[in-house]
Parts: sequence; C-alpha cells; structure tokens
Amino acid sequence: MPLSNGRPHMALPGPSMMPDRVLQAMHRPAPDIYDLDLHDMVASLVPDLRRVARTDGHVAMYICNGHGAWEAALSNTVAPDETVLVPTTGAFGHGWAEMARGLGAEVEIVEHGRTTPIDPDRVCAALAADKGHRIKAVLAVHVDTSSSIRSDIAALRRVLDEVGHPALLMADCIASLGCDAFEMDAWGVDVMITGSQKGLMVPPGMAFVFFNDRAAEVRRAMPRVSRYWDWAARAEPEMFYQYFGGTAPTHHLYGLRAALDMIHEEGMEHVWARHARLARAIWAAGEAWGAEGPFRLNVADPAHRSHAVTAAALGAPDGDRLRAWCRDEAGLVLGIGLGVGDPEDPTNSGYFRFGHMGHVNAHGILGLIGTVETGLTVLDIPHGAGAMDAAVKALTAA
Ligand SMILES: *Cc1c(COP(=O)(O)O)cnc(C)c1O
Repeated sequence: MPLSNGRPHMALPGPSMMPDRVLQAMHRPAPDIYDLDLHDMVASLVPDLRRVARTDGHVAMYICNGHGAWEAALSNTVAPDETVLVPTTGAFGHGWAEMARGLGAEVEIVEHGRTTPIDPDRVCAALAADKGHRIKAVLAVHVDTSSSIRSDIAALRRVLDEVGHPALLMADCIASLGCDAFEMDAWGVDVMITGSQKGLMVPPGMAFVFFNDRAAEVRRAMPRVSRYWDWAARAEPEMFYQYFGGTAPTHHLYGLRAALDMIHEEGMEHVWARHARLARAIWAAGEAWGAEGPFRLNVADPAHRSHAVTAAALGAPDGDRLRAWCRDEAGLVLGIGLGVGDPEDPTNSGYFRFGHMGHVNAHGILGLIGTVETGLTVLDIPHGAGAMDAAVKALTAA
C-alpha cells in the first residue's frame, strides 16, 4: 500500500520547494501595474537582492529562466568572434559554453570531468597563454548542479590578477545563491547570474544578472547589445516599465518580496550555515550507505561538495528504481542524474541527485534520509547500515 499521500517533499535541485509564505504572497488578484505601491515594492527588491549576492553593484531583472540569464550576461559583454574561457565541471558549464557559441563567440573549454572542482592552475595556464588578451570573459559555474561540485570562485580572481589578464570573471550561481556562501564583491566577481527557482524559493520564471562598474564599462564599449537583454535600462530604469523591458512579472515579484523577507529575517550567515549542516547530514548518510554495496556520493572530497545539491550513483538501473519508489510509494521526489556521460548507462538510470536548496530544514532532510533508507531496503539494494545514526550525529555535532 503506497504511503505517499500527504504533503510531498520535493528534493529536486530546482525548481525547489516554495514556502507557503511565498505562495500566499502570490495569491492575489491582478494588480494595477501603474500603482505606486507596486513600484515601491519592486524598488525595495534591489537592495535586498544585493544583500543576498553580497554586492554594492548593479542588478538587472529578467522574465526568463537560468538559460535566459546565461544569454543576458553574455549579450552585454561578449560580441560575436570574441573568446570566452570556460572551465567545466559538469553539464551546466557546457550549457553556458553552448549559449556562448550560439551567440557567435569562440569558446575555449578547460575540461575538468565531473568529479573535481575547477583547478585554478589550469585556468592560470590558459590565461597566461593568451598573450594577446583575446579572452574576454571567464565563465565559471560556482556549483555545477549536474555533478554537485562547488568550485572556488575567489581563486579565479586571484589567478586573473596574478596573470594581469583583463577578462571579466563571470559566475553562474543559479544553484548556489542563497545556499552556498558567495561574496560577489569580496571575491572579485564582475558578473553573477542566478534564477528565482532554486535558493530564492520562488517559482521558475525570473532571473537576475548582477554586474559591477567594470562590467558596465565593457557593456558600454560593445558594438551593439540585443535590446531585450540589455541590462543598462533595467538596472537604472527611468520608469517602471524599463525594469522588465515590458510588462512586469507581477506575481513573481510579490513572491520574491516574501522570499527575500524570509532570507533576511534568518540572516545570510544563518541561511548558509543551515544549508551546510543539512548537507553534512546527507553526506554522512551517503557515506554510511556506501560502506557496503554500490551507493557512492559523486564528489569524494567534502571540501568540494555543494551545500545545495548532492549527486549520487547507485548503478543502473537502481537510481531510477529508487527514484520511482520514493516518488510513488513515499511522496519524496528526487532529482534525475544529469549529464553523467556514462557510456554504459546512456539514460543515467544509475544516477540521481538530492536537492537541498532553499526551503529545507532538519525534519525534511531526516525524512528524506529515512525514506531513501526504506527504499533501498524494500528494493533489496545492498547498502551499509547506520545512515540515520550518522545523519543524527552530523546534525548534533558541535
Ligand atoms: C538550474 C541551473 C541552470 C539552468 O537554469 P534553468 O532555469 O533551468 O534555465 C544553469 N546553471 C546552473 C548551475 C543551474 O543549477
């Protein structure tokens, strides 16, 4: 008999769970888009978004998903035939590179596979070899959601400075913002992008491009910028209409207002610490399951694991079997394996991911661990014992 009725737990690495407070803020009749209260509310989002990104820089808001933010960031900074350097640690780095190719840019990939973080020395070598400064930007994914690898973005700024290379440092924080610690200004990031539907706990449909004065300078020197993606008027609108280059995404904005209130009531450091602690509980459970049988966390070194998403392998087809059991029998939705590139398992049926971004707490994560343990047991998938004990220990450790 399925035990799945009741409130489901969505452990997808995006879209993530939406707080009732966000949903309730959105549940309202169509607002008057000429109402000054709405204009004030939208203006109030800007400083609060900056506080999440830890920047005094500019922010442009878009009606689009993360793919749109990829294109927006590139459209303002990279002209056709200019070069971008992309150190990749999974499918999303390649996705951003593809987007750059689509805009006519030359793309130089520094492939890192999918189990190790970006190696600053390899990026250093690529920059040092670029004597003519053809490279206009380094596109780095902070947390590659497919592999759950977290890379050191500040190290890339140090490398750019060491080589004396003028390329912009651009970071994809779509998975990490509001989950893993990120400091745009202190880390020397010129352009940072994120979406509404992961750490920000709002439905998919909005994205944000943060940029500093250096990047604004690069934008001004561009031969042309596609009108819709142009960040200039969006970041400094003379009238309300310009924030979104058209009609505002009214309901998302109310949801975002509520989400930012929740984030800042908790405090950024607390939000980061909560994600870190909950992630450690999942890793502790994963290491216990992996002590016997096929279960493996994708990233061996905890220092390079994201606090927002955890990729795991179970062997084909047991990743799919476990996901189906958790969803259909227990009300827990796990993420699919993505971009693994395993030639023996073209559909990634041996892989899956835990999303633990945004609206997550101890009882939800303990429920997730207990549910996966039950699934492994029911499905007769060999696994080590003591996962729950290990998770409890991780949550109660000083
Ligand atoms: C989710 C995600 C994207 C893509 O965002 P969409 O909203 O699905 O277009 C890009 N990069 C990273 C790191 C992501 O996690």
